[in-house]
Amino acid sequence: FRAGGRRLRCRGVEPTEFFVAGRPAHGEGELTVTHPYDGRTVGRTTFATADQVEAAVAAAAGVAAEAAALPAHVRAAALDHVSRRLGERAEEVAQLITAENGKPIKWARAEVGRAVSTFRWAAEEARRFSGELQRLDTDPAATGRIALVRRVPRGPVLGIAPFNFPLNLVAHKVAPAIAVGAPIVVKPAPATPLSALLLGEILAETELPEGMFSVLPLPNERAAELVADPRLPVVSFTGSGPVGAAIRRSVPEKHVTLELGGNAAAVICEDWISDEDLTFAAHRIATFANYQAGQSCIAVQRVYVHEWVYDGFLPRLIASVEALRTGDPFDSHVDVGPLVSEEAALRVEEWVDEAVTAGANLHVGGRREGATYPPTVLSGVPKDAKVCTEEVFGPVLVVGPVESDDAAFAEVNDSAYGLQAGVFTHSLQTAFSAARTLEVGGIIVGDVPSYRADQMPYGGVKGSGVGREGLRSAMEDYTEPRVLVLTGV
Ligand code: NAD
Repeated sequence: FRAGGRRLRCRGVEPTEFFVAGRPAHGEGELTVTHPYDGRTVGRTTFATADQVEAAVAAAAGVAAEAAALPAHVRAAALDHVSRRLGERAEEVAQLITAENGKPIKWARAEVGRAVSTFRWAAEEARRFSGELQRLDTDPAATGRIALVRRVPRGPVLGIAPFNFPLNLVAHKVAPAIAVGAPIVVKPAPATPLSALLLGEILAETELPEGMFSVLPLPNERAAELVADPRLPVVSFTGSGPVGAAIRRSVPEKHVTLELGGNAAAVICEDWISDEDLTFAAHRIATFANYQAGQSCIAVQRVYVHEWVYDGFLPRLIASVEALRTGDPFDSHVDVGPLVSEEAALRVEEWVDEAVTAGANLHVGGRREGATYPPTVLSGVPKDAKVCTEEVFGPVLVVGPVESDDAAFAEVNDSAYGLQAGVFTHSLQTAFSAARTLEVGGIIVGDVPSYRADQMPYGGVKGSGVGREGLRSAMEDYTEPRVLVLTGV
């Protein structure tokens, strides 16, 4: 395959193998993977058969006790190996991500770098994750007693991943599972299975016991059956709200983590006023509204600007958006590539057209070409337009003035979602006010809501999900406390 004049070292004519209980396998049917920029085939794999799914789940359940007893040095060594091998194969993996997902190669390289760190952090956490020693003798009746509180895996994990970070969001499920000693079955997104399969290849090089991991491409209906399997008591899902909600309803008895969508907002506060401040904020917002064609759950979508600085901010924002280069994602200079499919771009077009028909001003963008939708800035958008209320998941910014920082915070909260918010301020007081007021899982002061460090707790409230990822948080999520009370100590 050729991409942007370069030869792609990605999956050729033979379907790529997936992994059943750690072993490479071919299944049934065909899953063709296409490059969103021009529709050409960049790889193929097959779907796991019913027997293969059964083998993967039975192996995960069968190895659970052995996995839970794996020494920390074995778990950490496996995670370090994956981190190192991803680093060694970084360029190949990045090319594969761009091929299947369409994100610009510079962002694919950044994603690989993050996955390298995700596994390295998990190795470090595996070495120090120990539970706690609790004294019980604060109660006279418990004099001489202590509790050893250890965390034990809840059982095998089912990890279901979306298309937009096909490697690092799979890493965020696999790495903490290995770190705590829980087997995991991964179901990658149908549009982007190849990077997860490459990760499977690297996992297969480790000394982990058979059954510790499987990577199974499956159609959605069959993934739903897997969700219902009682041998997988933990479900870690990242994806869209409706699917997440259906999963939670279908298995109320399970431990379910949901990382869902958002319509993240940034606030430019009244003290963010110098030329340098406004230029910086405009540049960061333009970049992180559009960096994967807006297909990040924390891409900036709404921007509330204090009216004192609005007139200085808007032209800078438009200039920063106009400076972004749209085009072939394999070109290292390109900032914005296609959306995952033409269908996705058509939906974005429809929502922007709806806002413009309802009276919004279109400052830049707004003209689709195939699966590529250009970075777009709208102002004067009616509050009930879909580009405000729903998750656009496309390169569209809605900007408007507000009379005070408090009014901006109220606008941020006027949403069905609550993932992260960015607050551009120099004031500690305003930062604390945001922390008290905003109904979100994370607040980024002095930057865009799109910032995520892979080790920090990450997740949302309201329609954005339940539970947290980030290595330590996911490890806590995949385990439960088991208390050993010692008497006479
Ligand atoms: P999606 O919900 O369409 O699919 C996500 C995964 O669920 C895929 O693997 C899909 O095959 C699978 N799936 C679909 N139906 C299923 C069913 N009935 N049972 C079991 N599995 C099923 O989402 P997507 O389009 O791949 O990803 C985009 C969405 O993911 C956006 O809403 C985005 O905000 C969200 N997301 C959230 C986070 C986060 O951390 N909060 C991160 C990235 C993406």
